[in-house]
Amino acid sequence: MHAFYADHFVLPLPSGHRFPMAKYAQLRERLARECPEVEMHEALPASDGELTLVHTPAYIDAVASGTLSPALQREIGFPWSTAMAERARRSVGATLQAARRVMGQGGGLAANLAGGTHHAYADKGGGFCVFNDFAVAARLMQAEHARRHDRREPLRVAIVDLDVHQGNGTARIFAGDASVFTLSLHGAKNFPFRKEPSDLDVELPDGCADDDYLHALELALDELDRRFEPELVLYLAGADPHEGDRLGRLKLSFDGLEARDRRVMDWAWSRRLPLVFAMGGGYGHDMESTLQVQVNTYRTALAFERRWQGQALAAEAAATPQGTHWHNPAP
Ligand SMILES: [Zn+2]
Repeated sequence: MHAFYADHFVLPLPSGHRFPMAKYAQLRERLARECPEVEMHEALPASDGELTLVHTPAYIDAVASGTLSPALQREIGFPWSTAMAERARRSVGATLQAARRVMGQGGGLAANLAGGTHHAYADKGGGFCVFNDFAVAARLMQAEHARRHDRREPLRVAIVDLDVHQGNGTARIFAGDASVFTLSLHGAKNFPFRKEPSDLDVELPDGCADDDYLHALELALDELDRRFEPELVLYLAGADPHEGDRLGRLKLSFDGLEARDRRVMDWAWSRRLPLVFAMGGGYGHDMESTLQVQVNTYRTALAFERRWQGQALAAEAAATPQGTHWHNPAP
């Protein structure tokens, strides 16, 4: 399974800043040690052309040149630096590469070690999100799919956002767009306080634990099935519904989050839908607990990737005519 990272673009943050910048490099180190089947690649930056599929040219320019107004910069939550602008592009690039990978090979899973920047709108950022990686990936895959298949209807993309915070930017970007279904399961009382209507929003009360969460997820996937037939799934596997999270307000256990990941990946697998996942938030009191949730997501994904590979091998074997290669006639 392929995964893309940009953790070496570290931005300077004031001391005490609550964004866990170190987490991304630590996740890569743990995956290299514990999940060697994950093939990791440095992400390329998203280009201006790719970003403009979603973002306004004025916003892209202002991020690049550091000329956002102080209010817009504050909403993002990072001070501007060239590293911030570069990291934002690479974080989108990682999701784009993961999406190209699964679409190009006609299935399977691929990941971004960061990403899931769902609070970014077309013309502004928010909540540590500069550009919206899932939105750009959905639009780019639609454009590339249309070119390859000469098909009128756009590629249908489902965004399954299980970060504990609502995917407000994503919801707004795709409002009224029938080709992208946005599902967000999130804490009712959590950031963002002004939520945007997704195609399907499920609000969870503070303290929601495994059983109630998994039941809500089941109902949400059922409803998605009734209303939409996706061809690509973008899954935001936020670690912040975990009970050890400082910002999450929910009470999911490690097992509950593993069951959540398995449910989403099994749902995609049983429909043979390619799936891209990104990590989104995770702000554990203890960083190790956040990392553990994320490593578990990769372990679960690897199990599903092996199923895809098994299917590909079986298809190859079925397509090879028995014995013909022994009797090639002389030219
Ligand atoms: Zn979050």
